[in-house]
Amino acid sequence: MKTWWKRSSLKLRLAVWHAAATTVVLAVFADFVYEVVEHRLAAEIDRQLRIDFDLIEAQLETDAGGSIHWLVQGAHGEEGFARLSAWFDVWSEDKQLLLRHWPVRESEIKSPLPAPLGAALRFQTIELEPSLPVRLMERPARVRERGVIVRLFRDESEMRRTLRQIVEVFALGLPLAVFLSSLGGYLIAGRSLAPVAAMAGQARKITSESLSERLPNPNPHDELGQLAVVFNQTLQRLEGSFTELKRFTADASHELRTPLTALRSVGEVALRQPDDPAALRETIGSMLEEAQRLNDLIESLLTLARMESGKVRLQPEPIRVPEFLNEVRDSLSVLAAEKQQTIELAGDGDVVQTADRGLLRQAVLNIVHNAIRYAPSRSRITVRCSRRNGAAIIEVADEGPGIAPEHRQRIFDRFYRIDQARSRAEGGHGLGLAIAKWSVEHQGGRIEAESEVGKGSVFRIVLPAR
Ligand code: ADP
Repeated sequence: MKTWWKRSSLKLRLAVWHAAATTVVLAVFADFVYEVVEHRLAAEIDRQLRIDFDLIEAQLETDAGGSIHWLVQGAHGEEGFARLSAWFDVWSEDKQLLLRHWPVRESEIKSPLPAPLGAALRFQTIELEPSLPVRLMERPARVRERGVIVRLFRDESEMRRTLRQIVEVFALGLPLAVFLSSLGGYLIAGRSLAPVAAMAGQARKITSESLSERLPNPNPHDELGQLAVVFNQTLQRLEGSFTELKRFTADASHELRTPLTALRSVGEVALRQPDDPAALRETIGSMLEEAQRLNDLIESLLTLARMESGKVRLQPEPIRVPEFLNEVRDSLSVLAAEKQQTIELAGDGDVVQTADRGLLRQAVLNIVHNAIRYAPSRSRITVRCSRRNGAAIIEVADEGPGIAPEHRQRIFDRFYRIDQARSRAEGGHGLGLAIAKWSVEHQGGRIEAESEVGKGSVFRIVLPAR
């Protein structure tokens, strides 16, 4: 049952729920109607009984012998009784039957009648026979100062018939109403869910090759429309990621192929003149250089892959920034010395910032390395630290060629190089700033570039106070 329920379509399940709800509501309503009608009819019989009582009490008389008579008034004789449509009997206070006026003989009544209880007014429904329910009213009365008990009866079968008819109408009408309402519910559910089927059909056709397709969305305002909007947004993000991934793979392959091609052609040229030791030495030197480039590229790619994997855990620690920058300068001093550049440290001497040392080092190294690469020989590079509005700021200023505004944001993209030929000659793969940006942003900071073409650039790392 449970698996059937789970396997059946949403449309069917909605219809079943609808039918169940309709049944409960209609059943409660039918019960309410039945109760109200029954109460009204019963109250009406009781009211009639009270009227009968008043009439009969006024028409009872005692004679000299003390026996009770019923004086049927008017010219209609016994008709009065017939019109009354009531039967009654009169009992003495010590429960002796004094008078009985019934339309049937007592012998015809199969079930024995209960004796009066006396004392107080009471109503009771009794079954004289299975098909003869009667309503009984019992009430003490006075006939010329004599205390008696009068009991009146009224046939309840008419009322029972009416109630039975109501039950029959409900018994027929209720299932019909539930059926029609469920059918309506099923059709409405079908209509409402039709777009879901259309969406599912369309979604099934979308593959990694057709991520540009979108789900149909006739009404973006309803719930299904919102689902389609969210799904389409997901598709759009997926498409973006796929495009980026494809571009990244193409760029990475291209970058990997270049040093490999260089390695091979240098090797092939050397093979043609195997007897010249000086030329061979030079060949091996440039092959090692290419191998180093390959190594650097693979290192960068691995770093990026690690970053993308989401597994890089931050290990924040308080860092004395001036000392930290000094260490960075030391590790790049050989490169700077090769170009006779000076790296100057400036700014506050006591800036302490909580950050992940490894990531921050990677970022600052890449930026200062760029300054060394792209600024001319004998130029000056200034690395400055300060604190502004609670944030720690590290600025690297160079006297290089600067970066034109159209490139300023794109230099942080992977494999983006302003001058392909020149950058390659100087050893960049276009990944350094992408890695620096990720390293800074991953710890809540930001990185920005300012530059004046021809004069130099300033790269700024801003780390918010923790
Ligand atoms: P690369 O490894 O090529 O240096 P980066 O991501 O570090 O890659 O830098 C991207 C590009 O931004 C570089 O190719 C270069 O054109 C430009 N660039 C980076 N730093 C500087 C700088 N200090 N001065 C001028 N141009 C720079």
